[in-house]
Amino acid sequence: MADKIIFATGNEGKMKEIRLILADLGAEILSLKEAGIDPDIQEDGETFEENAVIKARAVMKETGALVLADDSGLEIDYLNGEPGVYSARYMGEETSYRIKNRNLLERLKGVPEEKRTARFVCVIAAALPDGRVLTARGTIEGIIGYEERGEGGFGYDPIFFLPEYGCSTAELTMEKKNELSHRGKALRAMKEELRKALEV
Ligand code: IMP
Repeated sequence: MADKIIFATGNEGKMKEIRLILADLGAEILSLKEAGIDPDIQEDGETFEENAVIKARAVMKETGALVLADDSGLEIDYLNGEPGVYSARYMGEETSYRIKNRNLLERLKGVPEEKRTARFVCVIAAALPDGRVLTARGTIEGIIGYEERGEGGFGYDPIFFLPEYGCSTAELTMEKKNELSHRGKALRAMKEELRKALEV
């Protein structure tokens, strides 16, 4: 196994989750900041896979290290998969999630429960120094609720409702969200991919 892995994110919340899940790989996991790089990457792919690979490859080329990157978002079936890969940019990067979430609730006004299906998707890509690229995908299925609920999580969590738990993902503890979430699932799948690829 590599002794050092760079995870191409500037998000400290994600780093915490990532370190926890990948701890047993026995590698030191560095954020972009900790690796001392600040790349300017154009996330212009049309799929989560493309964007995650673009990020991982760019940072691998700059550092020569084993690099992981993620791309994630919310797909709402009634809106033909919107906001999808544009989740962070929906209504503008600077627009608050209060406004984005209320806009989505408004767009789904009057839509019955069975048509409010949605999922969070996360794809993790690994760019290995020898040029190989691996990807792993995780999803969590739910429905878009009728109002914002909960103070935890981030982004679209207050409107993403899990019928089997009777709450939104903003109402889960961090441990429970890691266990169930798209990112947790994708990270655990990537760990297995890396173990196979690096034979450890
Ligand atoms: P990125 O993967 O960091 O580029 O951002 C994806 C965007 O998708 C985030 O800014 C959020 O808007 C949304 N998103 C991804 N995962 C979650 C989640 O677990 N909860 C709420 N929103 C999420």
